This record gives sequence, C-alpha cells and structure tokens, in this order.
Amino acid sequence: MTAPVIAPVLATGDVAVHFGGIKAVDGIDLALATGEILGILGPNGSGKSTLLAAVTRLVPLTRGRLTLDGADYTTAPPHRLARRGIARTFQTVRLLGDLTVLENVQLGADLHAGRAARLRELVRRGAVPEVAAAVERTGIGDVLDRCPGELSYGTARRVEIARALAAQPRVLLLDEPTAGMNHSERREVADLLRRLRDEGLAQLLVEHDVQMMVDTCDRLFAMNEGVGIAEGAPADVVREPAVQRAYLGKAAHGAGDR
Ligand code: ADP
Ligand code: MG
Repeated sequence: MTAPVIAPVLATGDVAVHFGGIKAVDGIDLALATGEILGILGPNGSGKSTLLAAVTRLVPLTRGRLTLDGADYTTAPPHRLARRGIARTFQTVRLLGDLTVLENVQLGADLHAGRAARLRELVRRGAVPEVAAAVERTGIGDVLDRCPGELSYGTARRVEIARALAAQPRVLLLDEPTAGMNHSERREVADLLRRLRDEGLAQLLVEHDVQMMVDTCDRLFAMNEGVGIAEGAPADVVREPAVQRAYLGKAAHGAGDR
C-alpha cells in the first residue's frame, strides 16, 4: 500500500527549528513524492506549523537541509519559492481584505508569472488559464467580485487554496485547511485535495481530523514535541501506541484548541 519514495519532489533532511530553548522541530526527515498526500499528525504544539514554515523558508533553520527535485533550496528566499513550484495555505486565513476574491487569487498567479501589470486585463479576457483553472477547481466562480470579509469561513479557505493553485505549484502545503468548516465543507475540501493528488500534485497536509487524514492521505507522518514518532500507511500509524498516547489521548482532552 505504501510505495517507497524513490525520487521525492520535496525532501527535508534532519530539519530543526529551535526558538531559544524550545525545540519546536528537532530533526525531521520527510520525503514527498509526486502525486502523494503526506499527512502530518500531531497534538497542538508538536511542531507541525513550524515544520511547514521551515519548508517554506518562513523561519530560519537551526540545522538541516531542504531539497526540491533534488536541488538544495535551504537558503532560498521565501518569495522565490512560488516560482520554484511550492505554494502553501496558512492555519489562519490570510486573504487581503481590500481586494476582491478574484484579485486575491490573481496574487498567486502574479507570484508565479511576475506580470502583475497586465494580469487584471488578461484575466478579464479569460487569457490566464491558471487563474481560471484555480477558480473552477475550487468552485469559487460565484464569489469572484466579493470581498473576503463577506465570505463564509469555508469559502474563504477555498479562496486561499485557489490562490495557492494559481501559482501552478508542484508541491502544496496545507495547514489545517478545514479548520472551522462544517462536515460537508470538509468533505468537499478532502475531495478537492484527492482530485489534485490524482493530477499529480504533491501535498503536505496538516489536519486535526484523524478520520479525514486516514481517508485522504496516502501516508501519515506523526510527530510529537518536534520529532517524528511514526510513519507509514494511515491506518497503521493511527494504531501505533506512541501515536495513541501522544495524539489521541491528548485530543480527547484538548480537541479543538490550537
Ligand atoms: P503545531 O502547529 O503542531 O500546533 P507549532 O509549530 O505551532 O505547533 O508550535 C511548536 C512549538 O513551537 C510550540 O511550543 C510553540 O509555542 C513554539 N513556537 C512556534 N512558533 C514560535 C515562535 N515564533 N517563537 C517561539 N516559539 C514558537
Ligand atoms: Mg499549527
């Protein structure tokens, strides 16, 4: 069921991020293949968001190495990553409130194409297929002229995913994309992620909903206190005693907090 990763599109080697004395991430080795959803599971504070921040160069690494298609990008500036094919969504929605939904999605394409001045006109003429495709896949065509503040939480999160897709990434990192969504919105997002996976998009997915992770991910990587504690087929990982102790035990008491 779990194929060995032969040529990963994205890999981390012994990645560590320390904040003073806090070892938020402390020696993570991950390998993500094309067309794979790798889920990262762990209790609050286990270092999931920090790991995504490290992979997207938003925090400095204390040690370790990042590679994309085998090429080192450990010191690449974060604003260059979209051009290299890495896009992400954040744990809290980060849309620009003064811009329309369409303009927010365009921003993703801008980062990729670097042609901001002409883009608005091109989109109007339907000449930017990556924006049109991102809008179509995420089902946000009806809200393009609205402002983010008018949207339901679930719709705003889909706009964030559209913005990431507009950069035509090969790797997409999602930090709790269904947090705050109702059950049917969650299912829609899970379906979308699986469709993108089937088209070859590699995804690193952080989510608290264990059932969704088991249903959606090809592999799971469980972490606790900054280190990996289990990795493999989702059904096996969630049964691991160390995962049950670290994650499921705590989740029973502290579900829902961040
Ligand atoms: P998760 O996403 O798994 O809930 P985080 O990566 O957000 O965990 O946090 C991991 C640990 O690192 C926590 O102890 C958190 O308080 C700490 N941490 C995260 N970001 C910072 C920061 N910028 N400065 C100091 N400590 C941080
Ligand atoms: Mg987090």
